[in-house]
Amino acid sequence: MLKGKTAVITGSGRGIGKAIARRLAGLGANIVINDIPSSPDADNTAKEIAAEFGVGTLVIKGDVRSADDVQNLIDGALAEFGTIDVFVNNAGITRDGLMLRMTEDDWDMVLDINLKGAFHCIKAVSRPMMKQKSGSIINMASIVGVMGNPGQANYVASKAGLIGLTKTTAKEFAKKGIRCNAVAPGFIKSDMTDKLSDKVKEQYLSSIPLERFGSVDDIADVVAFLASDMSKYVTGQVINVDGGLVM
Ligand code: NAP
Repeated sequence: MLKGKTAVITGSGRGIGKAIARRLAGLGANIVINDIPSSPDADNTAKEIAAEFGVGTLVIKGDVRSADDVQNLIDGALAEFGTIDVFVNNAGITRDGLMLRMTEDDWDMVLDINLKGAFHCIKAVSRPMMKQKSGSIINMASIVGVMGNPGQANYVASKAGLIGLTKTTAKEFAKKGIRCNAVAPGFIKSDMTDKLSDKVKEQYLSSIPLERFGSVDDIADVVAFLASDMSKYVTGQVINVDGGLVM
């Protein structure tokens, strides 16, 4: 379904990003793994994917907060594979705390990576996608960006902002053949959610109609749909992948 196409996924050394990279490689796409320069996982992930799926892989480390690093990511991917057909803004962090105790640094750090990072990436990748007259951009939001969540003012604001950015990107670039959608995961088992207390985990579980936490593969499946022509008439949408938690 994606044979000969190229997908770039930010923050894909581990977690949801890695699962997305594996899923898109399984559909035939060449994969560009991006992660922060100190990531210990990016190289192993790329080797694992190349060996298992036989697609081209490339690691370009860089911090999405830096417009220069992001441009280097785009230039490197184009130099190796010629096109960027799918771009997934997946890199994200949390720095949780109640608002009264949240520091300005914690606010800035989360907004800079989760929202400004995506802005840098969309701006940089939209140019080659416009030339190609095609492309699918997928932003990793969160259901808390729709619902709000105590203790996550910075994270929630970044994800709500990402949803607005998704819709504006979809409207600005539709006539250029570029689609942009967001995936809003619910509670997904990952390093990010392992940090939460058992009490918080139990509270979430009791409110999920499908009665289980999501897996990274549940997210990767929906990203694969949005990356492919199966979703060619879908743009500007936010797809909750949350076991029915938000409806
Ligand atoms: P994760 O396991 O913490 O992985 C995040 C990835 O982003 C890591 O590879 C990390 O690199 C990378 N990263 C962090 N800062 C970066 C930067 N400045 N530049 C480039 N890469 C950076 O998180 P995850 O659970 O897989 O989450 C992935 C995405 O899904 C995030 O956007 C998150 O907000 C969203 N999400 C997750 C859940 C969930 O339940 N897990 C729910 C809703 C939304 P290092 O490995 O080097 O730290």
